Amino acid sequence: MPSDPSSTGLSAARGVEKKANRMNEPAPPEAAKIAPPDPRVTIEIIRQPEQRVPVRFALFDFDGTLSLIREGWQGVMIPYFVEVLQETGTDETPEELEALVREFVTRLTGKQTIYQCLALAEEVERRGKKPDDALAYKHEYLRRLWERIAHRVESLKSGKAHPDTMLVRGSRPFLDALRARGVRCYLASGTDIAYVRDEASALRIDGCFGGHIYGALDDYKSFSKQMIIDRILQENDLHGPELVVIGDGYVEIENGRSVGGRTIGVASDEAHPGGLDEWKRSRLIGAGADAIVRDFADLDALLAYLFG
Ligand SMILES: [Mg+2]
Repeated sequence: MPSDPSSTGLSAARGVEKKANRMNEPAPPEAAKIAPPDPRVTIEIIRQPEQRVPVRFALFDFDGTLSLIREGWQGVMIPYFVEVLQETGTDETPEELEALVREFVTRLTGKQTIYQCLALAEEVERRGKKPDDALAYKHEYLRRLWERIAHRVESLKSGKAHPDTMLVRGSRPFLDALRARGVRCYLASGTDIAYVRDEASALRIDGCFGGHIYGALDDYKSFSKQMIIDRILQENDLHGPELVVIGDGYVEIENGRSVGGRTIGVASDEAHPGGLDEWKRSRLIGAGADAIVRDFADLDALLAYLFG
């Protein structure tokens, strides 16, 4: 039972939101009320840059932005978390628990996985049970996810699958074009660093980042995308608009905006490559993305936007 007997899935979800706010984690943007996308547009420009300065650095998110290897991870995390909450003996229905879990999993996407596991631990506690360590939840989730995606990584490494089949369309030519223009590319992911390195290598894009590949650590406070962005700015005497942040999560878009960087939201439909995920699009616009793409297939339009 939840500690508040009147608590329903919905009110419990609101409780988490309040708690997250108390922890100085701003709630994510609501899906913006915006016009529907025009299917003919390959790059939707929300705002033109205030200053026309050349882009010198690009920071990419990994999963959902470049890599499709982890497509479907929500289908592993959500049922697992529901299972954990059912073990507390709560009388909430599986549907109520799923709605609750889906809300916080979605809200925390883009941050490190541990934040979703910390939210799960809070929910277990709210139901009067002693939660496991959030790190234990994370490791069990990763074990289950690996069962689903191991064959993808294997088929890339063995050469059975071409890396481009597990990249968001146009990723490789876009990375190459940026580098050809002298742009230094960085990769920062909320996924654990060992996986990010391994999967970037399997996709044969690791060489594009010249050693600048960052990911989550078990000591989660020692990493965040914001830290990477701040470091890029400091170490390179860089000014906001010289940095472009490219990602499918609101976290990196907000982080990029907060330092005056340019931001491209990638509203990729990971299950249907080439498609547009409308939910991602409206949330990325709500987070302040300067432009929205579904993928990088229209290289000319992207380069015109960044360098035109
Ligand atoms: Mg992502």
